[in-house]
Amino acid sequence: MLYTQPQLPYANDSLSPAISKETIEFHYGKHEKAYIDNLNNLIKGTDKEDMPLEEIIINSSGALFNNASQAWNHIFYFFSFSPDGGGEPQGELRQAINAQFGSFELFKKQFEEAGVKLFGSGWVWLSSDDEGNLFITQGANASNPLTEGLTPILAFDVWEHAYYLDYQNRRADALHALWDIIDWDVVSNRY
Ligand code: MN
Repeated sequence: MLYTQPQLPYANDSLSPAISKETIEFHYGKHEKAYIDNLNNLIKGTDKEDMPLEEIIINSSGALFNNASQAWNHIFYFFSFSPDGGGEPQGELRQAINAQFGSFELFKKQFEEAGVKLFGSGWVWLSSDDEGNLFITQGANASNPLTEGLTPILAFDVWEHAYYLDYQNRRADALHALWDIIDWDVVSNRY
């Protein structure tokens, strides 16, 4: 089975000003499409062709890992947003955030800082382990917490391609704006 790129559940111009229409067209329409096309070319006719994407990510390296993980990461990232997003998490995720980071505001500060301080291209992640403990981690390039046995809950893309059209060198502003479009219903259900 080859992978097809899912259509986003919102219009390309509906996340503005946090993310512009132009950025979605390039980032999801071209960058993400290329990762999926590359992934399909790499698995076509191999024993990985019918493997779930998460298993490919855990069991690969090099170009296959990079394209499989980036294909997965961008779907995870873009499906965390909503034009009606923002606000705060509720329920068990909120309780865990408060318990581990002190408050939602302190969590956001720590998460943003991890993204701002990541050198070069990569991702900042909120993940959980089997006991519900939360982790904020930085990962270079195509990194994915699945490879460490963790469950991803939230990701911010800090590659320049994620924000350069809208924010140029202002990565901190780009990350800060994402809180306004996070769909906490979707994200809380991952915990
Ligand atoms: Mn990206």
